[in-house]
Amino acid sequence: MLTLMHDVVVIGAGLSGLRVAIELVDACDVAVVTKVHPLRSHSVAAQGGINAAFGPSDTWQAHAFDTVKGSDYLADQDVVELLAKDGPRAVIENERWGTAFSRTEDGRIAQRPFGGAGFPRTCYAADRTGHNLLHTTFEQATRKGVKFYNEWFATSLVKSGSGVCGLTALEIPSGEVHPISAKAVVIATGGYGRIYARSTNALINTGDGCALALDVGVPLKDMEFVQFHPTTLYGSNILISEAARGEGGLLFNSKDERFMKNYAPSAMELAPRDVVARAIQTEINEGRGFENAYVHLDIRHLGKDRIAERLPGIREISIHFADVDPVDRPIPIQPGQHYSMGGVDCDKNGTTVLKGLYSLGEAACMSVHGANRLGGNSLLETLVFGRIVGVAVKDYLKTTGRVEKSNLGGGLRRTTERMQALLSKGTGQSPSVIRSELCSMMNQYVGIFRDSQGLSIALNMIKSLQERSRKMTAGCTDSRFNYALIRALELQNMLQLAEVTAVSALAREESRGAHSRTDFPKRDDQRFLKHTVVTKTKGRLVVGYKPVNLGMFQVKEREY
Ligand SMILES: Cc1cc2nc3c(=O)[nH]c(=O)nc-3n(C[C@H](O)[C@H](O)[C@H](O)COP(=O)(O)OP(=O)(O)OC[C@H]3O[C@@H](n4cnc5c(N)ncnc54)[C@H](O)[C@@H]3O)c2cc1C
Repeated sequence: MLTLMHDVVVIGAGLSGLRVAIELVDACDVAVVTKVHPLRSHSVAAQGGINAAFGPSDTWQAHAFDTVKGSDYLADQDVVELLAKDGPRAVIENERWGTAFSRTEDGRIAQRPFGGAGFPRTCYAADRTGHNLLHTTFEQATRKGVKFYNEWFATSLVKSGSGVCGLTALEIPSGEVHPISAKAVVIATGGYGRIYARSTNALINTGDGCALALDVGVPLKDMEFVQFHPTTLYGSNILISEAARGEGGLLFNSKDERFMKNYAPSAMELAPRDVVARAIQTEINEGRGFENAYVHLDIRHLGKDRIAERLPGIREISIHFADVDPVDRPIPIQPGQHYSMGGVDCDKNGTTVLKGLYSLGEAACMSVHGANRLGGNSLLETLVFGRIVGVAVKDYLKTTGRVEKSNLGGGLRRTTERMQALLSKGTGQSPSVIRSELCSMMNQYVGIFRDSQGLSIALNMIKSLQERSRKMTAGCTDSRFNYALIRALELQNMLQLAEVTAVSALAREESRGAHSRTDFPKRDDQRFLKHTVVTKTKGRLVVGYKPVNLGMFQVKEREY
């Protein structure tokens, strides 16, 4: 066992974690802990693009307005202002670092229309934008000498008094757990979409950082707001980017009807994701889908050349995973879980209630997306707030002295006990069985449409799965590269986050953005224009609320 020491430890090497580390590396000793190689972080899978108000008639105010309206007025408007104002700078910075954006004829960064946006505002690198951004940002972090602990799994945060003093992490290749002391810790662990069976997320998106924060008394905010992407490939739920509709793709039901006219007559296929996902699911539920499971996304009219230039990844995915060449046939699609609007409760600087603990990116809830995120705003969030949170952490370091390391021993002991419990039992419940029951149940009862009865069933089932998980065995006792153990540790986190999601959803008796209650179909600003915050006190979840920062735009009914 090593006792490691850094000024700052960033957990997560996606775009958020890397951008924070780049901001910090010249000022202090920063290290990044990541459970997979940085280039395998889910950011690499982002397809459609990144928003920035560059266009001649586009403005940051228009971008801010679209974001707030898209959020169903739950986003904090001061945070949205930062995102929209800093967008063009953040994109240019990454372009100068080396990202090869697609171009217009006259050489400017090309932009495509995206859902809920008043202008073509989404900059892209074909349909592999995340791949380009992540590789570029990782190169910069490496060039600047950021220290990486690749394939290290963060297992707990450690507190000292009212602040954080470090963490423990399992070195996956050796199986050893190490304490790491730090004056500040940044949670950039991404989303928790894998608590759902049908998800576009990487299998590693299990929300570990959110669960670690909850465990040390930091609230999770707005966890009921789970984004379902309208177009995921039927069968595998691999994402078919919104770029396909941005480029002109059309949706048809089994009656060959462009049904979006009945749901969003002006925006049609380019309404925000919550609206389109509900429309598709309604068509399927009411018998106008194909095989009761999917509808068609048609891009044939774009022609082979345009598809090859703008949507090459989408074509490959459709051919390899659905045996459909979209040049000749429509793509079978259905909605699937895509993004976690909720996360670690923090302000616009990433500051949490625990001194020295920061969060950003998909793991965090600042809240810039409110009840529904607009496509292209999440990649932007990682870069804009990566810099801002980095600056805030630098300021914090100026005011902190040495950290108290004595508590790290306690953290180490607790983690070791938790692992031993999973390793020592010869036979017991299988994590893969519990995981698959959890995920299907979440789709069924905490999916696109919810009601009090279903949510109560979900909560009971989660409790019983949690009970069974106490008798869980990893099933493999190897120390080196024990991925069975990693999956079991992740599952404990997932069960916790599923419970917070269901508890928050049950308490919010209204429909807003992605949270659609069939028993409370209307938005209720009187009772619920507020953020949900869930804290864990003595092992129990407690639901509370926080005001929304309004100010720039008046709260109105959404129409598209
Ligand atoms: C298929 C897909 C397409 C998307 N397309 C777009 C798009 O076109 N435009 C857009 O704006 N957004 C898009 N998004 C959303 C966007 O890509 C993500 O929200 C964003 O990239 C998240 O970045 P992040 O750095 O916060 O997290 P991630 O990139 O998910 O990185 C999380 C990091 O945390 C680490 N980690 C997690 N748990 C632990 C642990 N216990 N110990 C150590 N390390 C840990 C992981 O190793 C990883 O490095 C898409 C998302 C998906 C799933």
